[in-house]
Formats: sequence, structure tokens, C-alpha cells
Amino acid sequence: MPRVYLSPPHMGARERELLIEAFDSNWIAPLGPHVDEFERELAGVVGVPNVCALSSGTAALHLALVLLGVGAGDEVLVSTLTFAATANAVTYVGARPTFVDSELASWNMCPDRLAEVLEERKRTGVLPKAIIVVDLYGQCADYARIVPIAERYGIPIIEDAAEALGATYRGRPAGSFGTFGVFSFNGNKIITTSGGGALVSARKGLAERARFLATQARDPAPHYQHSTIGFNYRLSNLLAAVGRGQLEVLRDRVAARRANNAFYREALGGLPGVAFLPEATWGESTCWLTCITVDERAAGVSRETLRLALVDADIEARPLWKPMHLQPVFASCEVIGGSVAAGLFESGLCLPSGSSLRPEERVEIADIVRGCFASSRRP
Ligand SMILES: *Cc1c(COP(=O)(O)O)cnc(C)c1O
Repeated sequence: MPRVYLSPPHMGARERELLIEAFDSNWIAPLGPHVDEFERELAGVVGVPNVCALSSGTAALHLALVLLGVGAGDEVLVSTLTFAATANAVTYVGARPTFVDSELASWNMCPDRLAEVLEERKRTGVLPKAIIVVDLYGQCADYARIVPIAERYGIPIIEDAAEALGATYRGRPAGSFGTFGVFSFNGNKIITTSGGGALVSARKGLAERARFLATQARDPAPHYQHSTIGFNYRLSNLLAAVGRGQLEVLRDRVAARRANNAFYREALGGLPGVAFLPEATWGESTCWLTCITVDERAAGVSRETLRLALVDADIEARPLWKPMHLQPVFASCEVIGGSVAAGLFESGLCLPSGSSLRPEERVEIADIVRGCFASSRRP
């Protein structure tokens, strides 16, 4: 069997057709009709009227922080269990991330820890400038609790929904809960443009400003004039064409990942010491990656044993994101709690979850995992 990847790109004929159409139109630029259409279509999916298509999710995070006026010396609260890009963006504006632990119900930012740190900051010092909440592995954080807490202190939320395009929370789309929502169309995400991202906002003025800053902040003048520092962050028209093809099949892609998740739960759910990333009752996850935890004492095997058995069979499986508060580069940053995310990292494993994963591949993966348990029981 060919190598099985964790979350490979999944393209169709329509993407190819749109890409060639864009190529032949000679709109080979970071702008053009496909960018406009992609933004309009994405706005429809997310239910947020203003969308700015960008070169990456990381660029979207950076711009969101710039637009919120976050700068040197400011503090930004960030989910600790996430990909490094979330926290890196905070440092781009000279601010300092403080990491907030996960809750067990969803592995997302714990509302109790959030409330605790904000109360403490209010008592003793300066409030954080922003909160970046991650919708981890495709599941929304608990916004019914998080949004009122943030509002109580007047702190804006940036929702990092890079892994959650197509998810819902109480029927509302992921990406619509903050002052800004951030999406990624990197090659490993739910849908991809090879590289790309988007910043969305209900506030038209902020989205327009994002567009201005993302295209080198050119003042309206016939010559090149600049009154502020800009960025080269727009999505290419060619890539937006691919993204339009991908958006057409977003529902199918999410359904395929959820079917992978249902298969793994059925096949592995009964194994001792194995638990799945819980799907909270508040919404529907994209199941971007199916994640399990392995309690070594109950299971008799470790997460590493399973991972290495899969790797031996040329199947990509990985530990969860290593929490930001455990990263050498953020060693000097503060963390609020941290033991929940650390424990998940110790025992967690991401299984191949791509929307193009074939049924026979899933069966082989489940057989290998179950085989590890069978051999651990041999006397
Ligand atoms: C992928 C990802 C990003 C970064 O997106 P890019 O498009 O790769 O820059 C940010 N946050 C999270 C949670 C991600 O998974």
C-alpha cells in the first residue's frame, strides 16, 4: 500500500478546471475575479459578511492583532494546546503571549481558567489586549461561556478557526464568534489552496482596513504613497480559483472526516485505556483530525508503541500539538494552569484523518492498533 498521510490535500476535477480557467485569463496576480468570488462564497459559508482572502492563516492572525492595536509589551491570552502559528503571531507585533490551559470537555481553552486570569489581572494590573481562542482539531470552543467572560472585561476575541471551517456551535458556523475569525487553507486543512488563509469580521471597516494593510497599505494617490506600514499578504487569484472548487465540496469533505471519526470510534472505542477527543454537545466538529488518548496503565501499551507500529507500516500518525507553554521558544511566558494540556500531549495520538482516506486503509490502521493491544496481553 502507498504511504498513508495524516491529512493530505484532496483535489477534484473542478479545482483543476477553475485553476486552468484562471491561468488562461492571465489574472496571475494577488487579486482578480476569483479572489472576489472566493471571498463572497466564503462569507456565505461562514455567515460573516466581510472576508479578506490572504496568503496564510498566520498572516490572518498577524493582521487581526495589528487591527486590534496590539503592540509592544501588550499581553495576549492564547490557548496553550495549538499549533505554533497561533502564538508566533503575537510575537510579530511585539506582544507577549500568556497561555491558558485546556478543559477536558473539548480540549479547548478552559473558560474557568480564562475567568480566573482576567479577574486576577483586573485586581493586580493591566488587562490583556486580546484573547486568541483556538477551535482545536475542528471543534468550537465553548463560546456561550467564553464570549460573556471576554465582554465583561471588554477584551476582543480572535477566533483561530484554522482547523474548523465547516464546524458549528449551537448551529452557528465556526469563525463567527470573535471580532475576527481566522481560517487556513494550508495543504493539511479541511480544504486547501496549497497555501492560503482568510480573515473574517462582522465589522466592515475592519475588513476593509485588513484589505488595505494586506496590499502594502497604498494611499489613494496616482504615485506610490504610504502613511502606514503595510504587508504583502493577499491570496493569489490562481489559488483562489482552487479554493472556489474546494468550497463547492466543503460539506462532503467534512462528512468524510466525520465518517473517519465514526469508524475509529466503532473500531477502537472498546479498547482498554483508549479515549477519543470528546465531541461536546454544543456543536458539530469537522473532525479535522481524529485524536485518541492512551492511558498506558489501563491499556498495557503506550501511545508511542501505537505510533511506532503505524510508522513501521508507512502510516503517518503523530502526537498532539505540543502545548505552547512546553515549547522552548516560549519558556519565559506565563501559563495559567497547563497540566490538562500537558497530560493530553503525553498520551494523545492523531490518526490519519484525510477526507480521501480509503476504507481499506482505515481497516488496516485499526488492525495495527488492535494488534498492539493483543500482543501486549501475551504472557
Ligand atoms: C494551520 C494552523 C494555523 C496556520 O495556518 P497557515 O495557513 O498554515 O499559516 C494557525 N492556527 C492553527 C490552529 C492551525 O492549525
